[in-house]
This record gives sequence, C-alpha cells and structure tokens, in this order.
Amino acid sequence: MPAKRSTPDAGRLDRIVAEARRTAAGREKGYREQALKLYPWVCGRCAREFSHANLQLLEAHHRDGNHDNNPPDGSNWELLCTYCHEAEHRKVLDNAGRGGDQAGGGKDSPATYRPFEKLGALLTRKSDESDKP
Ligand SMILES: [Zn+2]
Ligand SMILES: [Zn+2]
Repeated sequence: MPAKRSTPDAGRLDRIVAEARRTAAGREKGYREQALKLYPWVCGRCAREFSHANLQLLEAHHRDGNHDNNPPDGSNWELLCTYCHEAEHRKVLDNAGRGGDQAGGGKDSPATYRPFEKLGALLTRKSDESDKP
C-alpha cells in the first residue's frame, strides 16, 4: 500500500489550510495592534489602565460585531479589558435572546405544542411491531 499522505494534492491542501490560518491570524493580530496604536491603553468600559506588563488583557472589540469590518481609521474598534469584553459579548447574546422570546409569542406555544403526542404514537407503533412474531 503506497502512503497517501505524500501525494501532491494532500501537500497542496495542507499548504492552503496553513496559508488561510496564517492570513486569519495575521489579520487578527493586525487589527489589535492597530487599535493599540490608535487608542490609549484604557478599557472603554471600566477605564482600567494598561501597560506593557498586562497588555495581553486588553482586547480589540468590534463595535458592530463584524470581525471583518476593520476600517483603517479604527472607527469600528474599541479597546476593552478581557472581562468587559466578555461581558459585552454576553450582553449582545442576552439581548438577542430577549428579542427572540418576545417575537416568538411564547404564551401560545405550550397549548398547541404537545411534545409527547408523537412520541406516544411512535411507542405504540413500535410495540405493535414487536408484538408481531
Ligand atoms: Zn474593563
Ligand atoms: Zn468583541
């Protein structure tokens, strides 16, 4: 059996994947570094100040939530400490959840939705089948 991993196609795919990874990593690193150059090293929420010693805790947040929207003037970036950054993203998720509940009209669904109705039918059918010789 010849070893498949040495075929040119597999090597090419590996190279493409590696390249895509490098590009994505480079872009992420790039916008954070640019944001750190543009803005003072202060969290936009809790106003905590940062220095080279703890700079790894300061992250670039995308105001519109779109990580591909990276205007060079930094208008879509905001520097947040890792805690406020996490809280900011949780807030967005919470808001989305609340909006979904309101739009769904949750009051009506329990009355019309009977989750065990189909299950009962399935069980009945199954036991019928198993009764057969
Ligand atoms: Zn903060
Ligand atoms: Zn963010």
